[in-house]
Amino acid sequence: MSDPNPQDSGTGIDPQPGLEPDAPRTTHPHPARLPVHEIPILRRAPEVELVDVMDGDGRREVLVHDHGLMALVDVMPRLAPVGQTADFAIVQAARVSYGVGTKKVSHDRGLIRYLARHRHTTPFEMVEFKFHCVMPIFVARQWIRHRTANVNEYSARYSVVPERFYRPSEGNVRLQSTTNRQGGDERVTNATASEFLDYLAAIETQYARYSELLEQGLTREQARIGLPQSVYTEWYWKCDLHNIMHFLSLRMDSHAQDEIRDYAYAMFALIQPIVPMAAEAFLDYRLGGEVLTRLEIESLRTGEPLATTNKREASEWEAKRQRMGLADES
Ligand SMILES: Cc1cc2nc3c(=O)[nH]c(=O)nc-3n(C[C@H](O)[C@H](O)[C@H](O)COP(=O)(O)OP(=O)(O)OC[C@H]3O[C@@H](n4cnc5c(N)ncnc54)[C@H](O)[C@@H]3O)c2cc1C
Repeated sequence: MSDPNPQDSGTGIDPQPGLEPDAPRTTHPHPARLPVHEIPILRRAPEVELVDVMDGDGRREVLVHDHGLMALVDVMPRLAPVGQTADFAIVQAARVSYGVGTKKVSHDRGLIRYLARHRHTTPFEMVEFKFHCVMPIFVARQWIRHRTANVNEYSARYSVVPERFYRPSEGNVRLQSTTNRQGGDERVTNATASEFLDYLAAIETQYARYSELLEQGLTREQARIGLPQSVYTEWYWKCDLHNIMHFLSLRMDSHAQDEIRDYAYAMFALIQPIVPMAAEAFLDYRLGGEVLTRLEIESLRTGEPLATTNKREASEWEAKRQRMGLADES
């Protein structure tokens, strides 16, 4: 990451004088010497009129698959100056680094794009989103690997697991890829799709035994062990925008499993209207961008094949060349 230079006219940041220092206080407040309820708190009115970035909505939901849900339940900042979006909090934080900065919205966009291009990430951490998510356990297992979120999950020790199972639609039963061990894009035959869906349906019938064993007094924490990965769980998931963009860059990507991609796209759809400038920069520089290795740049520069004997690396380079319109799609 290169250091952002606030004096650089290409950033869209106007160099500004630093914050005006206020006069030194004649007496020094020592909050630690007071009982907490006597510590003076100065209340300030907002400098400008504020609006709810969720337009007063209680929550916003995107339905996913047969029982799944992505619901946006809260945002920080929840209030933004009239005429602005939660993007303002990114710019506000960046201005602490750069001085007061520029007030124009077009300059805000330039600043956000500059920050995104140069991976100056901490201003993006000033925006947070809280979601209520309902997804099958096999999706939750992939999702939970993203360690920078705050998560609180439904307890199957404490509560009975509801009878909700994920079954893909018949058109989305996929053939194992021969090139990518972790995925598949093409459809299986109708016969295999029906057999797979029958297999899932048969497993779901075991829910009746789960219920019966609970009725016989078995602990919930043990009864749940027999439930399949297709059973739905749910959680509250709170994460800052920087780490959400990292999550989305991995899980909206074509290499991610189809099922979690649907949740990632739902998440992106929910945050996009709240932080449209950051979302645009994410699409332009992150999701829609491409990272080139030193060997790849060398190959581009010299016109020679990639200097590697590694087949996978060579095929990844070929895929990048195709994306960039430098090679025919095979
Ligand atoms: C297509 C795909 C296939 C995958 N296949 C597998 C698989 O087969 N097996 C498997 O186990 N996993 C697999 N994963 C999970 C993957 O390895 C990562 O664990 C997951 O994507 C989370 O990424 P992350 O650690 O960058 O994200 P986060 O946990 O959100 O972390 C964000 C960033 O914070 C930093 N960070 C967070 N915690 C720490 C820490 N404790 N120490 C140091 N830095 C930290 C890192 O810079 C990290 O990139 C797969 C992921 C994808 C997208």
